[in-house]
Amino acid sequence: MSQADLSVPFRQRAGSAMKDAFLQEALTIATTKFIGLRREAFGDFPEGEKLRDVAREIKEATLQHLDRYLEQLIDNVERLGGKVHFASTAAEARGVILEIGRRAGARMAVKSKSMATEEIHLNEALEQAGITPVETDLGEYIIQLAHERPSHIIAPAIHKTKGQVADLFAKELRRTVAADPEVLTKIARGELREKFLQADLGITGANFAIADTGTIVLVTNEGNGRMVTSLPRVHVAVMGVEKVVPSMTDLMVFLAILAKSATGQKLSVYTTFVQGPRRAGELEGPEELHLVLLDNGRINQLAGPLREALYCLRCGACLNVCPVYRQIGGHAYGHTYPGPIGILLTAMLSGPASVKELAHASSLCGACAEACPVRIDIPRMLIELRREVDETKIAPRTERAVFKAFGRLLTRPVLYRLAARIARLLQRPFVRDGAIRSLPLFFGDWTRTRDLPAVAPRTFHERWKELAREAPP
Ligand code: SF4
Repeated sequence: MSQADLSVPFRQRAGSAMKDAFLQEALTIATTKFIGLRREAFGDFPEGEKLRDVAREIKEATLQHLDRYLEQLIDNVERLGGKVHFASTAAEARGVILEIGRRAGARMAVKSKSMATEEIHLNEALEQAGITPVETDLGEYIIQLAHERPSHIIAPAIHKTKGQVADLFAKELRRTVAADPEVLTKIARGELREKFLQADLGITGANFAIADTGTIVLVTNEGNGRMVTSLPRVHVAVMGVEKVVPSMTDLMVFLAILAKSATGQKLSVYTTFVQGPRRAGELEGPEELHLVLLDNGRINQLAGPLREALYCLRCGACLNVCPVYRQIGGHAYGHTYPGPIGILLTAMLSGPASVKELAHASSLCGACAEACPVRIDIPRMLIELRREVDETKIAPRTERAVFKAFGRLLTRPVLYRLAARIARLLQRPFVRDGAIRSLPLFFGDWTRTRDLPAVAPRTFHERWKELAREAPP
């Protein structure tokens, strides 16, 4: 599935993904590799655990004074000759960027990988305005050729096997090539080189921006980020407001854990620091630098239930370990941000109604929180989101009725004991070897893909009474 059709129910989208043999192969190889590399990286880095706590504290402290740090950042970027724009919505951000492009007379924009620009659907807007966007990160380039959207936060083409990429290049670039990553990369590099020189606009995201120096920080692996920020005449960086960090010292903490969590590298290959446009006497760099600060629902969540999701560094580690993501990949989620953190970010950007199905697309196993470099408690927020979906009556009526009845049962001991006795009798025809293999009617959904443990012959309370009677005085 390349592009999720949101009119198709999530269960169906997930089902199709699970039947896609290519997707299953690509996902298993890539996520297993990422998990192993991350484990090794932190295994060799005993300070890592402590730094994760420090990083979390920095994030929280920054959010508490976000207004102050943003003001400081704006002052410093402008002091260095850059221009800062604030966009409350995706539409406003697109408007600002198109206006910059129009004034620059831009016909082509080269882009380095940026989830923020995916979030605001920038490519479509650029195309409509007559500016050709060219993705220059290899994964994004593949996705653009395939007319798809990224399926992973850091590895946009994770859902494709190398054979599929070779077929895509043969079709779109009319080049017959071997399914060899090195050969494929060389071809993409050759295609892109000219574009860097032709483009008038360079568009990037920003992994961080340092408030007390006005530095925009890009963390990349392919070097394309440096070309995008230095060759075109105008550089536009698009950044969610929560990405500001107070100082260079704070940045070092994040850099020490970001690449290890994402790809298992000690550091990413390139860490680019952008400080204003080209100055007199400098040989390279853009004539204009614009920083677009994107709100799009974030500021509202400073006092909202999803506040902790604003700590996210977009490393993708929670996707790699999530048993749901590993089965269905990113496209089945149907929104810009996939995986467990993606559900929270989607709710943040588009409201809880947009995730009424996705809020349940988690086993709540806790693997995401365990892997997250800033220890975001994703399962807790997913549970809160489920409650919100329920309380705002977004969930279907039957589902709400069942959970309401279940809640009553669990909070009334007499009723609970009675229900346990009745369930013990009713389950008899369905129990085999201590498990319920299949249930009739709509209860069948619970046993369609897994067994349910049978209700025990005696409850804990019953056993406890017996033990108390048998115990010596
Ligand atoms: S929630 Fe944590 S693990 Fe997931 S992408 Fe964000 S920082 Fe990485």
